[in-house]
Amino acid sequence: MSIIKLAILGGDPIRKKPFALRKTVGAKEIAAVNEVMESGNISLFFGSPGDFFLGGPAVKKFEKKWAQKYGFKHCISTNSWTTGLMTAVGAVGVEPGDEVICTPYTMSASATSILFYGGIPIFADIEDETFNLDPAKIEEKITARTKAIMVAHIFGHSADMDGIIKVAQKHNLKIIEDGAQSPGAKYKDRYVGALADIGGFSFNYHKHIHTGEGGLIVTNDDALALRCQMIRNHGENAIEEFNLKDISNVIGANYRMTELQAAMGQVQMDNVEGYVSHRNELASHLSKRLGAFKGFTAPAIKPGCVHSFYVYAMKYDESVYGVPRDLIARAISAEMPTPENWEQEILVQGYSKPLYWSPVYQQKIALGKKGFPWNQNPTVKYEYPRGLCPTAERMHLKEVLYSPLIREAITLEDIEDLARAIEKVISGIVELRDAKLK
Ligand SMILES: *Cc1c(COP(=O)(O)O)cnc(C)c1O
Repeated sequence: MSIIKLAILGGDPIRKKPFALRKTVGAKEIAAVNEVMESGNISLFFGSPGDFFLGGPAVKKFEKKWAQKYGFKHCISTNSWTTGLMTAVGAVGVEPGDEVICTPYTMSASATSILFYGGIPIFADIEDETFNLDPAKIEEKITARTKAIMVAHIFGHSADMDGIIKVAQKHNLKIIEDGAQSPGAKYKDRYVGALADIGGFSFNYHKHIHTGEGGLIVTNDDALALRCQMIRNHGENAIEEFNLKDISNVIGANYRMTELQAAMGQVQMDNVEGYVSHRNELASHLSKRLGAFKGFTAPAIKPGCVHSFYVYAMKYDESVYGVPRDLIARAISAEMPTPENWEQEILVQGYSKPLYWSPVYQQKIALGKKGFPWNQNPTVKYEYPRGLCPTAERMHLKEVLYSPLIREAITLEDIEDLARAIEKVISGIVELRDAKLK
């Protein structure tokens, strides 16, 4: 018998004090946005060549500031990272029937951006240490139709880029990096995003920094940058001016960021380093504590990598205590105050379900009702069966427990409370198991 009764079994919780709410907008953001409001120039983009084809002063300044700070040759802002991903897919030249290898363990847009250009997402399995695409598994999926690899640096840890670049070079494939969760993350002392051809970041409200909604494409390739600028802003109107030879995929949309968002982005971007180092401090404490608990594995940080900790994703092995993940997660969460918004959830089980479980892939219905784009290759039968990516499925169903409680407003004392909650639940694990809670 443990002396302390678990909260889920009616005992006192470890903590009653609510966690501080994340505050994402301050006086500097308000001043920057007000300045744009007072100028009256909320967006200066113009959909044909000329002074404003590339946007107004705030947009240009934000892009330049990011490029200089992180050492990318070109930055192209967009109105979301979903449209940024679509732009990147178009820019690298994906066409109907092309296959693009991607991870199933990511946010849905990493794969739907491929579908929008008629490309076929081919899911390869992940490594169980970093939850990112496994280069060996990518190579098994390559065919004569493969055009590109869509990498996501999930939760903020870089994928194995050396391994992935090696595969890409061998087979002449383009690489797109979905860095939505990893601004400020590093791989071998270089910032992720344009370690290969093209990539970028999300500025939606939930990400490290935000502009309400927004995205930023980064690349060191002049030709790709121009194609992105065209796709972002009615590229069909600028073909002659830019003297473009290959005019495929440059019909554009309106994916333009407003001056308001860019002004806010310029302010917010100064926070990235501080946020990443704060999150690392919190993570490092929690990982140290977790190291002493059987059944829990702290997130890996590979040599030379800087993790940006979008969330803190640990692994749980239910065979150690014979207690399922759902129950232990509920027991730990019961030791702390009820979440007030999603960022204050204590523990989340799994992550987005493997993307190919969605009806989109199961029924192969994406654009129209006739099976496009899978019907572009009539001799190939595309299937997305259960078990296609066993590691991703296992992480989702059984092992991953992540905590969003790794935010700017969270202190080391808060994180220590989480560690104590886990410790307490482990000390009461026999009672928890024997209580046979539903
Ligand atoms: C948030 C996110 C996106 C989409 O970004 P938006 O700016 O919301 O469009 C894409 N991929 C990943 C991995 C994300 O986390």
